[in-house]
Amino acid sequence: MRYPENYSVIVIGGGHAGTEAALASARMGVKTLLLTHNIETLGQMSCNPAIGGIGKGHLVKEIDALGGAMAQAIDRAGIQFRTLNASKGPAVRATRAQADRALYKSAIREMLENQPNLTIFQNAVVDLIVEQNKVIGVKTQMGLDFYAPAVVLTVGTFLGGLIHIGMQNHSGGRAGDPPSIALAERLRELPFRVDRLKTGTPPRIDAKSVDFSVMEEQPGDNPVPTFSFMGTADQHPRQISCWITHTNESTHDIIRGGLDRSPMYSGVIEGVGPRYCPSIEDKIMRFSDKNSHQIFVEPEGLNSHELYPNGISTSLPFDVQMDLVRSIKGFENAHITRPGYAIEYDYFDPRDLKASLETKFIDGLFFAGQINGTTGYEEAGAQGLIAGMNAALQTQGKDAWSPRRDEAYIGVLIDDLITRGTQEPYRMFTSRAEYRLILREDNADLRLTEKGHELGLINDSRWQAFSEKKEAIERETTRIKNLVVQPDSAAGQQLNKQLEKPLSRAYKGEELLRRPDITYAGLMALPGMLEEKVADKVAEQVEIQIKYSGYIDRQKDEIERSLRNENTALPKDLDYSQVKGLSNEVVQKLMNIKPETIGQASRVSGVTPAAISLLLVHLKKRQ
Ligand code: FAD
Repeated sequence: MRYPENYSVIVIGGGHAGTEAALASARMGVKTLLLTHNIETLGQMSCNPAIGGIGKGHLVKEIDALGGAMAQAIDRAGIQFRTLNASKGPAVRATRAQADRALYKSAIREMLENQPNLTIFQNAVVDLIVEQNKVIGVKTQMGLDFYAPAVVLTVGTFLGGLIHIGMQNHSGGRAGDPPSIALAERLRELPFRVDRLKTGTPPRIDAKSVDFSVMEEQPGDNPVPTFSFMGTADQHPRQISCWITHTNESTHDIIRGGLDRSPMYSGVIEGVGPRYCPSIEDKIMRFSDKNSHQIFVEPEGLNSHELYPNGISTSLPFDVQMDLVRSIKGFENAHITRPGYAIEYDYFDPRDLKASLETKFIDGLFFAGQINGTTGYEEAGAQGLIAGMNAALQTQGKDAWSPRRDEAYIGVLIDDLITRGTQEPYRMFTSRAEYRLILREDNADLRLTEKGHELGLINDSRWQAFSEKKEAIERETTRIKNLVVQPDSAAGQQLNKQLEKPLSRAYKGEELLRRPDITYAGLMALPGMLEEKVADKVAEQVEIQIKYSGYIDRQKDEIERSLRNENTALPKDLDYSQVKGLSNEVVQKLMNIKPETIGQASRVSGVTPAAISLLLVHLKKRQ
């Protein structure tokens, strides 16, 4: 049966990618349908109940700067917040929050249900309706057909999902959820490159059976950070501690003893697992010289007794899981509430995607999230937002947009995926970005909110708050630049008492602030320096922008130079074998990836600056 209503954008899947995609499309005023297996699992965290961390926190702030949901949801659901790398430079500082799983899900669901232009329907999608290489709708399990000119597919680990616990395995999307077999089979008929990846999760433990007195307590930060640029600390629920314990030699012996029944080490699992989030059996084998590994014992929620032991993800048989858990300090009498498991699933080679996340083979079909080979809620959410937004832009007849590598970690993520592909689950790190000093968590709004507003992603209250903040930063920066401190003034004399080398002449405020031993707060504490107290977030920006201005300007110059040919388009039909001087290897690589721009081509591994010059000459001749 054909559903009586037509939509402009259909999003399949209500995980982290799907919810951001649906919200972004609907925020832009486009009639959007979110189709998912189960409304109760909207926004479900399949693995660790936490958002953010190094690199990932940057993505969350960028999602927020573009009006997305993740940061606002974690502000309402976070039960322990920390700023990681707080003592290091601002580029690598990152926010992380432990989530109450139930509160997170309900925050996401509330946002979805209250979003104008968005309709939700619960049913599994089993097929895509494709006509002449263009998607026009989807078919669901109950025989309903929904029509739309753009479809965003965000089905996570569900495609051909196979769950392993020891030598036993069964089909599943994640524990307790059905897999998407029919859809996986259908997608394998389309011309995408498909492969298998694997991820895993630890057993969960009943807190009532744990001895916390022998563990190290890890409280959150005080004052409690917020994630969203619109967030306030009073939105947070009650804050609680996490705990730290360790594996030991006995744990490692138990694991080694169970490896013959490990699906990973006996060859049952074919998919490649996440290198940076390995299972405990992987850690024991890869780092055999280490006799202990740290475990963060994380609460699953304020009203839950379940604990998430972060660091012992495993697919060993259940009896081995019990023994290994009980060999750990504090877990001697632990009761496992859910076993750990690994899951293998289909993913698509992201090199078959455009920067908009539209597939290269089927017009109007966008892919986002774990199906593109990534791992993590933040990576999924970031792609979801971009795919949902571009699906909406396409139905509005507008050009696609995706941030560049120098504009956002989201740009780094997408460019890495579509240019280099991935052979293992991809997660974000700050080390993946070339321009870390520009791509900070603290300035994500200054980098992206104006663009988000232009695209229709930003609501009025966020726009007003952003505009006021931006103006305040500009005003205060100008004021500091024009401040003068004379050595014999009251401020100068007080400062001289604090400095090793006293001031010998009049100094401008910005010169003083650039010195490592003078902070914005310190400068404002001097007599006559403070005119009007500015918000902490404004002061933070003024301080960072002035203190690091030398480095920031140098990075901006570098970006400008690298951008000269970045956006020069490469025609879709370009026959690289006709480009004089290109090696066969480079021709093959470029034919394979079909980069959209010179910038993208230059980042394909093996494509040298000389090859780029040849391409530019060829393009000139074609004109
Ligand atoms: P998901 O969050 O999986 O959402 C997929 C959605 O699609 C679900 O709502 C589902 O119901 C729906 N759906 C699926 N098929 C259909 C269909 N046919 N029709 C309609 N709806 C459908 N990440 C980490 O960063 N670290 C980890 O250690 C980690 N471990 C993990 C362990 C396990 C066991 C699993 C399952 C995931 C793990 N992840 C981990 C990954 C993290 O959960 C995902 O990266 C993230 O949830 C991906 O978001 P997504 O939106 O792409 O997919």
